Amino acid sequence: TGIQELLLSRIRDVADYPEPGVMFKDITPLLADPAAFTALTDTLSEIATNTGATKVVGLEARGFILGAPVALRAGLGFIPVRKAGKLPGATLRQAYDLEYGSAEIEVHAEDLAAGDRVLIVDDVLATGGTAEAAIHLIQRAGAEVSGLAVLMELGFLQGRARLTPALDGAPLEAL
Ligand code: IMP
Repeated sequence: TGIQELLLSRIRDVADYPEPGVMFKDITPLLADPAAFTALTDTLSEIATNTGATKVVGLEARGFILGAPVALRAGLGFIPVRKAGKLPGATLRQAYDLEYGSAEIEVHAEDLAAGDRVLIVDDVLATGGTAEAAIHLIQRAGAEVSGLAVLMELGFLQGRARLTPALDGAPLEAL
């Protein structure tokens, strides 16, 4: 569609970043273009509404930039899922494996409760490790995942297949 072409035209491929052999997808040209950023926000907020979301979770850091306007546009609260050690209140924490080593993400425990339906927003789905940890965090908080919405899915990394069990039928939308 026209929107997909617009979005794709505003994503920059950066070779060998952050390390040799990696083609990094840079969304800063999209953020700098208000027409493209608005189109993205509107499309993601429709997904929030269509999946019956009651909250929007953004994954640090680019998921904050994309998720916050989506939450406002859909009339929903925004909740940050942060790298461990950044949130001041009582948190739930979830560890996940990286290519080398592991990482942890956190959410404020009081931000999610039973009955909440959460749309998770991020810029890029790669291996799916980050999103999988976020899904588990949301479920451990007693809430339900309404869907996962990303700007881009790097299909060759098989993240979608990895996430199928955790998503348990909730949609994965990659624009
Ligand atoms: P995953 O956990 O392997 O799926 O990696 C996804 C996370 O890494 C997301 O939070 C992305 O923001 C980030 N990421 C991975 N690859 C890229 C990229 O090419 N561009 C921007 N972010 C990326």
